[in-house]
Amino acid sequence: HAEPIDVVVTGAAGQIAYSLLYQIAAGTIFGPQQPINLRLLDIPPMLKVLDGVVMELEDLALPLLREVLPTAEPAKAFNNVAAAFLVGAMPRKEGMERKDLLAANVEIFKVQGEALDKYARKDVKVLVVGNPANTNAIICSHYAPSIPKENFTAMTRLDQNRAQATLAAKLNVQVDKIKNVIIWGNHSSTQYPDAAHATVTLSSGVKPVPSEINDDEWLNNIFVSTIQKRGAAVIAARKMSSAMSAAKAAGDHMRDWWFGTKPGEWVSMGVVSDGSYGISKDVVFSFPVIIKDKHYEIVQNLPISDFAKSKLDITSKELEEERAEANNVLKK
Ligand code: NDP
Repeated sequence: HAEPIDVVVTGAAGQIAYSLLYQIAAGTIFGPQQPINLRLLDIPPMLKVLDGVVMELEDLALPLLREVLPTAEPAKAFNNVAAAFLVGAMPRKEGMERKDLLAANVEIFKVQGEALDKYARKDVKVLVVGNPANTNAIICSHYAPSIPKENFTAMTRLDQNRAQATLAAKLNVQVDKIKNVIIWGNHSSTQYPDAAHATVTLSSGVKPVPSEINDDEWLNNIFVSTIQKRGAAVIAARKMSSAMSAAKAAGDHMRDWWFGTKPGEWVSMGVVSDGSYGISKDVVFSFPVIIKDKHYEIVQNLPISDFAKSKLDITSKELEEERAEANNVLKK
């Protein structure tokens, strides 16, 4: 029988965590054989709410779920963890400027980076969901120098899932018939959802998505802006940001990191840039990756059109600016 692994979720009293915790406890992320000790971190005013979440976790009566520890102390939450879902982040309040938001989050992810460095397993897999996710991930990694940079990732999987679903609807096929759509760059409105390398499985065989859609105007404009603005569209309708789909995407990201990608398929993850595709190093940039034995590699040598190149430039410039702002905050 497998030993339990320790898994932390931050922002554990929040909306995304509410859907994510069930998946972790049910075995859909780390597998049906892997017992889990859950560490639930939130801020002190949320501990009462967190007690309610703990009660519900008990009431799930799921055999894989062993210890559950609700806490506001990073030292306890990050102790010995093999996987970390960093969901909690300071939300943007009305009238708040981007740099105020960044400053608040720099502090949160500094503290959590330090706690990971001190207490977590050195092979811990860190997934940052809380926004601005890419920049939070680079800060977190910076404060955890004893953990390899590769172990810090940011979520763009919800964007990938949205792109895949949108292409499937356009081509009137089931969603799993669409493969290898890419999200490049920042998890923000500058991201570039790219269908140039995507394929669709039809009864006549596997075909390139662009030639099946045969409408560059739609692909370059409507498709891109639909995905970029989907989060805002959900907020407008639900009056709250996407939670169920964000949690499902977080599970998809971690499961693929844990168990690997399928042959011939890649997924998009925000990872520390190694200079691939001319992206400056040391920003967390979403690239297509292939994963094997719990290690990912950035897919190399995909042809990049001039149009795509211009989109990559915009999103990488934004990430460099965010990193510079974060560095300013840290110097103070
Ligand atoms: P959610 O659980 O809905 O969202 C959490 C974070 O995920 C937000 O930063 C949100 O960004 C982000 N996010 C990233 N990608 C997506 C996406 N595609 N769709 C939607 N959200 C996305 O927020 P709640 O307010 O319900 O819960 C947050 C919890 O975190 C609270 O309980 C709070 O107390 C806690 N918290 C914990 C901290 C800690 O543990 N130290 C620190 C700060 C907060 P966006 O805001 O842009 O939607």
